[in-house]
Amino acid sequence: RAKAEERGTIRFFEAAMDQHIREKRLLQRDLVVAVENKQFQLYFQPQATTEGAVVAFEVLLRWQHPERGIISPTVFIPLAEESGLIGAIDEWVVREACREAATWVNPLSIAINLSPVNFQRGDVPGMLAAVLAETGLCPKRVEIEITEGVLIDDFAGAIAILHAVKELGVRVAMDDFGTGYSSLSYLQAFPFDKIKIDQTFVAKLEDNPQSAAIVHAIIGLGRSLKLPVIAEGVETVAQLSFLAAEGCAEIQGFLIGRPQPIAHYQSVVSTLDGTAAAAKLAS
Ligand code: C2E
Ligand code: MG
Ligand code: MG
Ligand code: MG
Repeated sequence: RAKAEERGTIRFFEAAMDQHIREKRLLQRDLVVAVENKQFQLYFQPQATTEGAVVAFEVLLRWQHPERGIISPTVFIPLAEESGLIGAIDEWVVREACREAATWVNPLSIAINLSPVNFQRGDVPGMLAAVLAETGLCPKRVEIEITEGVLIDDFAGAIAILHAVKELGVRVAMDDFGTGYSSLSYLQAFPFDKIKIDQTFVAKLEDNPQSAAIVHAIIGLGRSLKLPVIAEGVETVAQLSFLAAEGCAEIQGFLIGRPQPIAHYQSVVSTLDGTAAAAKLAS
């Protein structure tokens, strides 16, 4: 009986797997079309000082699927990484984001996520240099965000690429800090300009003493290494207060503003005074 039950479980499991794989293949096929037809839209989320002055926007990609509606990057970025489409997608994002930022009266920075995969395959410094030349955007206004995983195979190669990126005047932030297996060795090996505290720690700040201790430690680490720290996923005033008291430089999260098409933030990018604009955001 146990055996029969086991077989049943396995069959159920296999069916679920088949379904999952079929679904994945369908989406992967659609993604090829999406790249060709540019079914993507840039969303922008403000990054602000703890006083509320907007200093930058993170660029977050959305896929406008013709039948399924908006698809999250947590779903399609891994598919793009597997199928080799990520190079074309990230290059498109960089170009569109730089083109957009170049039109702003307020010279705010943009933070762009780049897949670790592109550090192993593509020519990231070359691509960035070409887009900066093409759009005329000042390189100091560009920051790239990368997560751990970049150099698993080729530590030395990745360090060289990051130095070449910084040579252009582009800054490099370590995204999702504290969630990987080797955050500290990454911090030691790579020339990062900024640390982004992962939102999972921020989310638990108020009711988990461990999370509060970790956030406290990361901010202290940033201070010792002279690296600015930004906290992501800030949703409440209590979280903001904690981070401000600890000396965290910047915050990002729904409390300041959600990721939105840039039209939503037109008043911020078209006026020179970031503080006034931020006050407008809050009201
Ligand atoms: P990430 O770079 O760590 O981005 C932060 C994620 O947290 C975003 O999810 C953002 O919408 C979300 N978020 C921001 N504030 C809050 C908040 O207050 N509360 C909560 N609960 N969430 C918040 P999103 O937009 O779904 O992006 C997910 C991930 O996809 C990003 O994580 C990034 O790793 C990746 N991604 C997004 N756009 C791109 C892109 O153009 N290229 C690449 N390679 N990856 C991208
Ligand atoms: Mg990011
Ligand atoms: Mg992050
Ligand atoms: Mg992330």
